[in-house]
Amino acid sequence: MVVLPVPGDLCQECGLCCRFSDPSVLTPWAVRPGAAPLPSPFRPPNPLALIPGAGRMDLPVLVCDALRSDSYRCAFWGSHPADCRLYPLVLVYRDGGFLLALDPDCPFAAREPHSFFLDWATRFREEEWKRLPRAAVPVLAELARLEDHPHYRPVLPLPEPEGPMPS
Ligand code: SF4
Ligand code: SF4
Repeated sequence: MVVLPVPGDLCQECGLCCRFSDPSVLTPWAVRPGAAPLPSPFRPPNPLALIPGAGRMDLPVLVCDALRSDSYRCAFWGSHPADCRLYPLVLVYRDGGFLLALDPDCPFAAREPHSFFLDWATRFREEEWKRLPRAAVPVLAELARLEDHPHYRPVLPLPEPEGPMPS
């Protein structure tokens, strides 16, 4: 599975991920309220939930229950949902097509050149995306449309998937 190699110490220092002020945005797709069933790469190995917790400056937020507070590691690391494994690459739906874009708000985005993220995006396209069933397109397009922000930088357009991976 494709996992972007964001250094753990950087995440521990930054602390932006896995804590959310609004469950309808920026949360793992597997916990979005009302979301339709997702294809397997976007599902965690066990159900996820958001639980009350504390964010930066002790502001109340919702925290993913797979986040280990002692190490800032994901309990499902390696098999966590694709939208988490790819970050700071984000699957968006823009101008009628899927696109992997880079979120410049993640400090790791500035640490590596464009070619680094293009290589990882290409790996995801070849190893996971192309194998997704065509039936997954409507639910992914809906979620990816909500995910887009104008300041996200395009990295790699993706064709519509039409592979045999079961949903
Ligand atoms: S925003 Fe980037 S550096 Fe910060 S916790 Fe998330 S992945 Fe780690
Ligand atoms: S599944 Fe893991 S990586 Fe994704 S939000 Fe939860 S703790 Fe973070």
